[in-house]
Amino acid sequence: MDFELTEEQRMFQDMARKFAEQEILPSLKENERQEKFDPSIIKKLAAQGLLAPHIPQEYGGLGLDYVTSAIIWESLCMASLSVTQAAASGPIQPVTNLLDAGTEEQKQKFIPPVCKGESIMCGAVVEPNAGSDSSMIETSAVHSGNHWIINGTKIFITNGEIADVVLFIAQTDKSKGLKGLATFIVEKDTPGLSSTPQKGKISWRGGSEGTLRFTDMELPLENQIGETGRALRNALRGIDTARLFLAAGSVGLAQSCLEASINYAKQRVQFGKPIGGHQLIQKIIAEMATKIEAARWLTYRVADLKSRGIRHIKEMSYAKYFATETALWVASQAVKIHGSFGTIDDYPVGHHYQDAITATILGGTAQMHQLTIGQQLLEIAAFR
Ligand SMILES: Cc1cc2nc3c(=O)[nH]c(=O)nc-3n(C[C@H](O)[C@H](O)[C@H](O)COP(=O)(O)OP(=O)(O)OC[C@H]3O[C@@H](n4cnc5c(N)ncnc54)[C@H](O)[C@@H]3O)c2cc1C
Repeated sequence: MDFELTEEQRMFQDMARKFAEQEILPSLKENERQEKFDPSIIKKLAAQGLLAPHIPQEYGGLGLDYVTSAIIWESLCMASLSVTQAAASGPIQPVTNLLDAGTEEQKQKFIPPVCKGESIMCGAVVEPNAGSDSSMIETSAVHSGNHWIINGTKIFITNGEIADVVLFIAQTDKSKGLKGLATFIVEKDTPGLSSTPQKGKISWRGGSEGTLRFTDMELPLENQIGETGRALRNALRGIDTARLFLAAGSVGLAQSCLEASINYAKQRVQFGKPIGGHQLIQKIIAEMATKIEAARWLTYRVADLKSRGIRHIKEMSYAKYFATETALWVASQAVKIHGSFGTIDDYPVGHHYQDAITATILGGTAQMHQLTIGQQLLEIAAFR
């Protein structure tokens, strides 16, 4: 067991942190106030090689292991989890899914442009009546001659409005349940596909989500990805990477809150001394740092298992559940340490506090991960 970062990992950590400070932070406040995601960040990440660290080099990524990728995501998310997620979600979720299930021709056509920041891909699973329970997917794919006809709606899809390519799951035969689900890929300018942005957000305001509508959309048969009946299993590969990203990003978010709180507690004077000199503030700082350290090592550990191809279902749930809940708790404490100043967007902690609640929902809610851990330990499924 070696807990030291390698020289290469430290180099990527510094590079990502600098990128976050120079490219994400300066425009964050204004973009959030306008509920706006600036997609130019995607190209900037790609130019530095930070957009798709985990994707093999032959498809336009860096081919790095998952521990190094997690370290990069952690450092980027010290500026903003929501902006980093919107920027990097193509390579993280749908590309990983396509890499696993697509033909070589499909992979060569769609993956390199996404990893180079030339094309935006989104992964659409969730619908109005199908959130945590994907067996409820209602978007229909009806086989008709030499094409599919698609009808349905997908909601809260990261980059749903701005994506050039959509990877989505639809039901080919309701009577078959999960075995009827299939994955498809479609280019955004296809007739019958429309999108609208998600507005009115109280969190993740620098991110980018949208609603997609399929109305009698005709899709060539060759646009199916993988076999019918394996859609969820294939999607889970991408979702697994998204969970690692969210765990690592939450560690970065929490670390940023800790650093901001330490700085503030040293400067803010009340009752004749810096508030950091009051024992109750020190207790909070100590609890923050301890929990962050625990979340970080749970995350690196599962990243290592994933890199080595070792089964890690419960370990991924430990990391995603614990890191996102830790981030939410740490961010709420950081806001309190900043007092009234924590409630305005001049300080980073307010932004992180808003982002942290959403991180507990996407990539599987806290409850779904608790149920997964329970199922793995008890060998009894409580949610089916
Ligand atoms: C910013 C953002 C980006 C997103 N990006 C994407 C994307 O790119 N692609 C995509 O497909 N989706 C995306 N989503 C959707 C996200 O994956 C879903 O919101 C998430 O899976 C939860 O589904 P839901 O919101 O329908 O909640 P529900 O499943 O309705 O759950 C509501 C509550 O009930 C609880 N619950 C549900 N079932 C059980 C149970 N069996 N036992 C105990 N509690 C239970 C949940 O834990 C939760 O607290 C995104 C969402 C957000 C907010």
